[in-house]
Amino acid sequence: APGLYIVATPIGNLGDITLRAIDTLKGCDVVACEDTRVTGKLMNHLGSRKKLVRYDDHASDDVRERLLEMMRSQPVALVSDAGTPLISDPGYRLVRDARERGIAVTSMPGPNAAVVAMTLSGLPNDRFLFAGFLPNKAKAREETLQELASLRATLIFYETAPRLDASLSAIAAVLPGREVSVAREITKKFEECRTGDPLEIAQHYAQNPPKGEIVLLVAPPGDEGRATLDEVDIDALLRAELA
Ligand code: SAM
Repeated sequence: APGLYIVATPIGNLGDITLRAIDTLKGCDVVACEDTRVTGKLMNHLGSRKKLVRYDDHASDDVRERLLEMMRSQPVALVSDAGTPLISDPGYRLVRDARERGIAVTSMPGPNAAVVAMTLSGLPNDRFLFAGFLPNKAKAREETLQELASLRATLIFYETAPRLDASLSAIAAVLPGREVSVAREITKKFEECRTGDPLEIAQHYAQNPPKGEIVLLVAPPGDEGRATLDEVDIDALLRAELA
């Protein structure tokens, strides 16, 4: 049917594409993608040849209009280079405009590095906040961490290998006493996940420079699981006081 199909693709291991994603990528007429070379490879792997249209949120209004026009009469898939489209990836404007125009929008869920890292880390996951990439500049990075400091949630950031060291130092300085977790090359051959003190982890990576893709997580403030315990404690205290 005509409309916009948001399709998640693997974040490393090609086996992680879903059956629905394959059906959709084989059944649609057009694939909007970040990089036609990257998506071309995936389509080759699936043995499917479709019209690929390069799209990102900075694409001209013309490109977006053309895609929206196509969606009225044919199925258009949206993919990014890896993982779930829109999550630190293009697509937000396209989805917004499609919805505004009454075009059918549906999403084929699949891999997402933030969620997979959350499950690997061993950090509390009853509440988590995905905060995208930390800013590049030191001052803005510290301000962002300050802003998030009192949130009772595990923080999840996308990270790059060259910036990991600066981020770990900033976390040690701005969020003292908080454990971090580094999940690297998830679903790939050299997948690893290290959880511990940020400075110790920084030291490890100073000796073994990290390669590849990284998700960085920060434990919530206070003892693990304390959030709910505190509430129970306060409740008990209040009851005792009122009795
Ligand atoms: N849309 C993607 C998703 O759903 O995960 C994320 C796209 S974002 C531009 C790319 C960032 O995701 C990388 O810098 C890294 O932080 C993270 N990432 C993607 N694949 C990863 C992997 N296999 N292992 C660890 N991190 C990954």
